[in-house]
Amino acid sequence: MTMPTTDVKIDELSNEVASTKQLVVQKFGGSSVSDAEGIKRVAQRVVDAQKAGNEVVVVVSAMGDTTDELLDLAAQVTDSAPAREMDMLLSAGERISMALLAMAINKFGASAQSFTGSQAGMITDGIHGKARIIDVDPHRIRTALDKGHIAIVAGFQGMSRTTHEITTLGRGGSDTTAVALAAALEADVCEIYTDVDGIYTADPRVVSTAQKIDRISSEEMLELAASGAKILHLRCVEYARRFGVPLHVRSSFSQKEGTWVIPGAEEKFTIEEGVALEQPIISGVAHDRSEAKVTVVGVPDIPGKAAAIFQVIADAHSNIDMIVQNVSTHGTGRTDISFTLPIVEGADALTALRAAEGKIGFESIEYNENVGKLSLIGAGMRSHPGVSATFFKALSDAGINIDMISTSEIRISVVTSADALDDAVRAIHAAFELDGDSEATVYGGTGR
Ligand code: ADP
Ligand code: ASP
Ligand code: MG
Repeated sequence: MTMPTTDVKIDELSNEVASTKQLVVQKFGGSSVSDAEGIKRVAQRVVDAQKAGNEVVVVVSAMGDTTDELLDLAAQVTDSAPAREMDMLLSAGERISMALLAMAINKFGASAQSFTGSQAGMITDGIHGKARIIDVDPHRIRTALDKGHIAIVAGFQGMSRTTHEITTLGRGGSDTTAVALAAALEADVCEIYTDVDGIYTADPRVVSTAQKIDRISSEEMLELAASGAKILHLRCVEYARRFGVPLHVRSSFSQKEGTWVIPGAEEKFTIEEGVALEQPIISGVAHDRSEAKVTVVGVPDIPGKAAAIFQVIADAHSNIDMIVQNVSTHGTGRTDISFTLPIVEGADALTALRAAEGKIGFESIEYNENVGKLSLIGAGMRSHPGVSATFFKALSDAGINIDMISTSEIRISVVTSADALDDAVRAIHAAFELDGDSEATVYGGTGR
């Protein structure tokens, strides 16, 4: 039987992790360490990995919904928290779990030391709230491992070399901390432990019959993450692909094999018995409730106005996603431009746009947070006609109204009202025959 190179590598990897000394980076998300019991359960798992002969680095997120609770708390104190202080506050969540996990591991008879992001050498740029990792100097982690310790690192945070301030990497950023450390330490594998058994064809909290995917190309995972599937942080997938880090997404509540994200080249084919089999056309459906829709109404329909609007948004450090420009109404010489951006960036973007109203010359702005985005993703889509037809028929049969549409070679996305989103996801999942026979297990978490 002829196997493709990637399959061989991954299979070897699974065996090697069990049998020879490996450097393993294990990341545990908030739902895995939501209370003292969870911390002890994770500690036991980490100790077992070391006992099996591995060097173990652990990246840990804040307990349960701590980050959301800290955000709520800040909002009760002020509606204009300085970004620096917000990062000081949010980075505290991960410090709590890292220290408690280190204590639990020590109690189980192994030796663990915890490190903040800056102690672990996570160097970032100086943009608070969504800092990017620009360098990793893990010498203290390496030394701890050489002394036989388990190193516990606070996820989601770093320090800017220029401002010397503490930064955070954006929501879900602990995944990226883990992969960045795995790359810098040349780890054999980065395991992302969470509250479901791996990456599914849709969020199992929305589609109970979603199926677990055994292997997914980083290309498809990038599209899923970029489309809002929060199972992995987008930059973690980018980082893993760039540095060739094998990623294994699995549950901390079960011993089941999870999903391998295959780095490197796009896998269009798997080869069995010498026959090339095309990958499934569709890999999954993602949804996203974290974006808002902005419509700039009555923009003069002359060259340069779209550029001016998006420059204002870029200067406000906002990330635009979908853009739609309506045909200008005959005779008015004006058009509407709509786009989506993260809700958390909405207020700043609106302030910046309003300040530029005179210069750009638009008539008004509409802002709507009650929207959701659905995306269908699949590498096989690029060579299969008819995907769009099935997609739009399924939404129409389900009576779902579409607000905006955008596509890439391997993705179709639509914006709907937030209320219709879950039904839309289920309709599309069913239309592409992705429903499995059994129900996916969700072990923990609140889905917040
Ligand atoms: P953690 O706290 O471990 O980082 P997250 O809540 O960030 O966990 O991510 C895990 C959650 O991602 C799951 O509980 C699930 O609801 C959601 N999710 C969204 N899309 C998917 C998908 N395609 N496959 C699996 N889980 C998904
Ligand atoms: N605690 C942070 C968050 O909730 C980071 C993470 O969980 O990855 O976004
Ligand atoms: Mg996460």
